[in-house]
Amino acid sequence: MIKVSLAKGDGIGPEIMDATLNILSAAGADLTFEEIEVGEKVYLSGNSTGISDDAWQSIRQNKILLKAPITTPQGGGYKSLNVTMRKTLGLYSNVRPCRSLHPFVTTKHPEMDVVIIRENEEDLYAGIEHQQTDEVVQCLKLISRPGCEKIVTYAFEYAKKYGRKKVTCFTKDNIMKQTDGLFHKVFDEVASRYPDIINEHWIVDIGSALLADSPEDFDVIVMPNLYGDVVSDIAAQITGSVGLAGSANIGQECAIFEAIHGSAPDIAGKNVANPSGLINGAVMMLNHVGQSDVAAKIQNAWLRTIEDGVHTNDIYDPIMSTRRVGTKEFAEAVIANL
Ligand code: NAD
Repeated sequence: MIKVSLAKGDGIGPEIMDATLNILSAAGADLTFEEIEVGEKVYLSGNSTGISDDAWQSIRQNKILLKAPITTPQGGGYKSLNVTMRKTLGLYSNVRPCRSLHPFVTTKHPEMDVVIIRENEEDLYAGIEHQQTDEVVQCLKLISRPGCEKIVTYAFEYAKKYGRKKVTCFTKDNIMKQTDGLFHKVFDEVASRYPDIINEHWIVDIGSALLADSPEDFDVIVMPNLYGDVVSDIAAQITGSVGLAGSANIGQECAIFEAIHGSAPDIAGKNVANPSGLINGAVMMLNHVGQSDVAAKIQNAWLRTIEDGVHTNDIYDPIMSTRRVGTKEFAEAVIANL
């Protein structure tokens, strides 16, 4: 039995987590959960880090966290706990698969099957941001050779393991010649060690435009932190909804599994959120801990539910869908298909 730390998060977090836990339990996942409190409630209790020492200890001991999204104040307030956790635990790789579910979920891009691999510790997210003068603020972009080597090697190893044909790199090295230049240079070096995998590089602006237009031309895409954050939301939305994709944050010792989207305060507490992103995050977690049979069982039941046209509001289409369901009812339909 594997012990997993569990955070129900903010906004839609508790609803999508309950749906996911019901599915994990019905599928017979061999897991026990240790619930920890992170995010808004912890901030409001006066702890400005958003996480208690006990919660850190739980994650460090169990090494796996299943986490619902948490709310981070915009333009001020507390530092992002997501960024802190990824950095503190050394979760250098963020894996975000975005696959079209054509013809069951409406998308203009039926052949899309892209995995975004985002560097998760460096870049403008390194947290070096300060006031220089009254009128000037500065944020430093930090890129290191070891950081680039780890993430680019991860991307090629991922492609090799899952039989993927091509790894593309997105940077802006025509402007940020040193930082993004280093990322691109290391990409070329690492790529030369994988002669069986096609490699290519695009400048991130035209690369993103091509991804939006012809996602079927892409396979695995590796990029620095900020671009990966932005491009992966776009990629998930192109498949039909940002509510569909799961996300794995992987380090040498620990890992966090979640949905790619945020806490969606606009729809919280209404039983309308799509729990699929977190369900897919949980499937990635099961594969990570060696419970691939249960992972496949849940993935198949989830796919069958989508194929049956049982859809939450975000992907509901009067032609393709048969039933518009809430978060709870979607989970019940998945359980019925196990
Ligand atoms: P968001 O992803 O929460 O929501 C964007 C839009 O997508 C909203 O209209 C929302 O209703 C919709 N949406 C998101 N998830 C959905 C789902 N599962 N089903 C149906 N619709 C869904 O992005 P935001 O509004 O920019 O961010 C809200 C908060 O979440 C912010 O505080 C942000 O910092 C935080 N956030 C947290 C994480 C995380 O914990 N990993 C990730 C991203 C954003």
